[in-house]
Amino acid sequence: MTRPIIFCDFDGTITETDNIISLMKTFAPPEWEPVKDDILNQSLSIKEGVSKLFSLIPSSQKEEMIQYLLDTAVIRKGFKEFVDYTKEYEIPLYIVSGGIDFFVHALLKEYGPFNGVYCNEASFNDSTIAIHWPHPCDDHCESKGCGCCKPSILRMLSLTKDTEVIVIGDSVTDIEMAKLGDTVIARDYLAHTCEEKGIPYHPFESFHDCMEVIKKGVKI
Ligand code: MG
Ligand code: ZN
Repeated sequence: MTRPIIFCDFDGTITETDNIISLMKTFAPPEWEPVKDDILNQSLSIKEGVSKLFSLIPSSQKEEMIQYLLDTAVIRKGFKEFVDYTKEYEIPLYIVSGGIDFFVHALLKEYGPFNGVYCNEASFNDSTIAIHWPHPCDDHCESKGCGCCKPSILRMLSLTKDTEVIVIGDSVTDIEMAKLGDTVIARDYLAHTCEEKGIPYHPFESFHDCMEVIKKGVKI
């Protein structure tokens, strides 16, 4: 018997859109756009880029930013039922996110507790926001600049052979953990990339779709 264990991304997966982008659009000066472009064209690592983005915003904006996301971020359909299902069947559910603690925890609050929530951390002690990186890349990660290194977290948590690793995600930062998964549930960019790279995956739009995949207990 293999035991399923779920690793689920946050931005664009649990929430319908990316929360860092929506914070930048609302709270950052226009200089955030070239930084975003440099992250996308990979001239900045995720880690360097995200630090730079948040350094554009005064720490005094903390509460407004949290409130803004609580008011505007949309949690994907079926998430609550999905979490309840994993609790009922005692399937460990880990959230692995390149997002930042102050909004990840705020948005997840009414759904938890989870087996673990891994994300980056912000400090508001200086005049502008500083980001800290408690989950760095291990020796096996080729990228080295992940920020919150998802494949390193998977390697740390799913060491035994009798676990079936289920990965749910949507974007470029989920590819390396998808490669380590036994079952991949993907949408958007991650789905296209799995297709390109020949990684088998199940498409999803809602968490009801994810639940169906897990209920069937099948690998593809
Ligand atoms: Mg994402
Ligand atoms: Zn890494």
